[in-house]
Amino acid sequence: MSYKKAQKIYADVINEIKESGLYKDEYIITSPQGGEISVQFPQGSINKNVLNFCSNNYLGLASHKDVIAAAKNGLDNYGFGLSSVRFICGTQDLHKKLEEQVSSFLGKEDTILFSSCFDANAAIFEVLLNEEDAIFSDQLVHASIIDGERLAKKVERLIYPHSDMVELEKMLANSNSRIKMIVTDGVFSMDGDMAKLDEIVTLAEKYEALVFVDDSHATGLIGNTGRGTPEYFNVIDKVDIISTTFGKALGGANGGCISGKKEIISLLRQRARPYLFSNTLMPAVVSATIKVLEIIDKDFTLKEKLIRMSEYWRASLINLGFDIKNGNTPIIPVMLYDAKLAQDFARELFNEGVYVRGFFYPVVAQGQARIRTQISASLTEEDLEKALFAFKKVGIKLGVIK
Ligand SMILES: *Cc1c(COP(=O)(O)O)cnc(C)c1O
Repeated sequence: MSYKKAQKIYADVINEIKESGLYKDEYIITSPQGGEISVQFPQGSINKNVLNFCSNNYLGLASHKDVIAAAKNGLDNYGFGLSSVRFICGTQDLHKKLEEQVSSFLGKEDTILFSSCFDANAAIFEVLLNEEDAIFSDQLVHASIIDGERLAKKVERLIYPHSDMVELEKMLANSNSRIKMIVTDGVFSMDGDMAKLDEIVTLAEKYEALVFVDDSHATGLIGNTGRGTPEYFNVIDKVDIISTTFGKALGGANGGCISGKKEIISLLRQRARPYLFSNTLMPAVVSATIKVLEIIDKDFTLKEKLIRMSEYWRASLINLGFDIKNGNTPIIPVMLYDAKLAQDFARELFNEGVYVRGFFYPVVAQGQARIRTQISASLTEEDLEKALFAFKKVGIKLGVIK
């Protein structure tokens, strides 16, 4: 009865989203994640096998047999769940082992696990900063960082234009704040470019600021040994805090963490609300993530294949005449600028057996609609050729290329 009024309000909003062409339908996958997946779209239609160019499964570890075996091991030896937060009775030796392993992989003193990187980012700023402090944040940081900054209500928040080091320096120079923290993504998820960490750490030293990097799209794949953007820019020791996810290259299940100086991690264990009030990570996920780190710590073949294929894919799309954002990561956006065109393009490609998604406002700025392609080591070179053929066909059909 009382729902009537609210129902109309919600239904109107949904209609508005639909009428503006921004409604997001979910495609239903009926196979494990991988380079080739089985998808139903629209819902209930027959399964169609498509090449997957839109997952964050960069290294193809989501369905790796050793990772699955490690998850089963975790299940057999540590149970399904712990029914507790960490500080009550939710910490197993497995959780401590993963924390140590992440610290050593990222070259940091200590690590704290969260249920997701979203939670990690939501937690951190409120704990480490107060009204005497200031955040200097890139304009394009991930939504979870923005939410975390919002939760730190008393902290001054300055936003610099994307990767604009001149503006960042001006802001730092004008600030009298006690703790200054520069906050950035390592790899920006929509554009596929990297933060200028070399310049950022130089500014941080000059103005005595801390550096926080969310390396969710970089851990495991960027840098000579996959340590992420700090390794790529050779500034591992100069990045104070890293947050990252286990839900992308590192097996793709879920979970996230913050790595950094030991006082920072200790304080987070005392005060971080998503750590204190949300359940511990599932043991099977922890066990599998430990295996992932073992694999990528010594075997760079998947990473090298990924980088090689990404370079080839980028160069080939440019060759076909597409407008590609500059960058050198496996995130390769094909710029179309128009939201409807991006959706049509994605649909046509799906019909050709290539699964990509169109991105448009509010996920990217107005007039910046695009198809974001992402390369995975689970794709083969032959898959890339097939997909290039489809991109060419659809590109010509929709008048995007000649
Ligand atoms: C994906 C992503 C997150 C969220 O990670 P989850 O573990 O899925 O919550 C946070 N930050 C960035 C930059 C991301 O790309």
